[in-house]
Amino acid sequence: MLKSAEYLCGMASKTKNSASFGPSLRLGVLGGGQLGRMMIQSAVDFDARVEVMDPSADAPCRFLTHRFVQGDLNDADAVEKFGSGLDCLTIEIENVSVEGLRRLEAQGVRVIPKPDHLAIIQDKGLQKQFFADHGIPTSPFQLIADANEVGAMGFPIVQKMRKGGYDGKGVKVLKNVADASKAFQSPSLLEKAVRIHKELSVIVARNSMGETQCFPVVEAVFDPVANLVDYLIAPADISIEEAQTAERIVIQVAECMEFEGLLAVELFLDTEGHIVVNEVAPRTHNSGHHTIEANITSQFEQHLRTVLDLPLGSTAPVHPVGAMVNVVGAADARGLPDYRGIDAALATEGVHPPLSGKSQVKPFRKMGHVTITGETRQEVIERMMRIREQLAVEGKPTPTE
Ligand code: ADP
Repeated sequence: MLKSAEYLCGMASKTKNSASFGPSLRLGVLGGGQLGRMMIQSAVDFDARVEVMDPSADAPCRFLTHRFVQGDLNDADAVEKFGSGLDCLTIEIENVSVEGLRRLEAQGVRVIPKPDHLAIIQDKGLQKQFFADHGIPTSPFQLIADANEVGAMGFPIVQKMRKGGYDGKGVKVLKNVADASKAFQSPSLLEKAVRIHKELSVIVARNSMGETQCFPVVEAVFDPVANLVDYLIAPADISIEEAQTAERIVIQVAECMEFEGLLAVELFLDTEGHIVVNEVAPRTHNSGHHTIEANITSQFEQHLRTVLDLPLGSTAPVHPVGAMVNVVGAADARGLPDYRGIDAALATEGVHPPLSGKSQVKPFRKMGHVTITGETRQEVIERMMRIREQLAVEGKPTPTE
């Protein structure tokens, strides 16, 4: 793994602000979804008492925590009330009240990621400006106040709502002037459309001592027909030089921000071989699920190590190849999830099936994923294709129906 020797030398004299931990440590998590569930699995090993806040009474973490609070994650007062008295607080989703986190930090709660970093990352415009200001390679862009300015950079462009978008919602590709009528009205970021060869991601951890550790580069393989991510696989099928460049850029991002925590950096490798940063997420990420089985330390454990201010774990692979494919609801599925084909999937070597804990299935709703490890890329892809044909999530009536 790449490390910036110069930077580490620079940080060597910094003293560690150690956090005591043990069975009485109270760790709060904002967001109680699937990522939170996997974080809890890891937190058990650290003897941490996990407490969760989520807007949904039906949150997947609800019955796995010491304390569950239903509340609006964007309500500063509600976040402050939830977090008061905790030792540490972290997130599984970035759309939370920065103001609430700032108040808790002022009360002495250790908040990771830092509220100032979240404030930048929550706003795609500020995030992009940060990259530009720090010489981090990213596609040319312009910030606009509303749809009237959407032609400012010419076409083709990608328009992104500055706040609130996720999973591609809040992103529009505008190919030509005629597409301008489809533009979002809200304050947005316009980006030059990158001619993407591969979509990559690297998850980096950076601790309070300024030490960094990257997980191997992950590649998102797209289904050209559905134009959706088909599966994620690590290591990415790129050259050693490209992998080194990706890691160097990712460490540059974490260091420029003086980031503390786990940072997932999405990158594009363009058709001319340049690597640019698309965006970052200051948390565990779906491009790191396979690390539970495929690497010495999982992204969830690494995240908790940064939250608890402990030494970073090794990210070296345990298996040469790791992959992840989402399990989604069938096209007509509604009601209680009814998982089909699990037996066949589990009979395949190297397959693990984390389910999301969602109580209701809907058409194409993400209901979990399968990770697959193996010796070669081809072997893993072949197993994945087979499992995908076997696995389905249908719906069955709830008992009251
Ligand atoms: P979200 O945070 O909602 O996932 P992203 O910024 O990751 O949004 O964009 C979603 C997808 O849109 C990316 O995975 C990529 O396929 C495409 N995309 C985003 N920005 C660009 C760009 N500048 N050029 C070309 N495609 C892009």
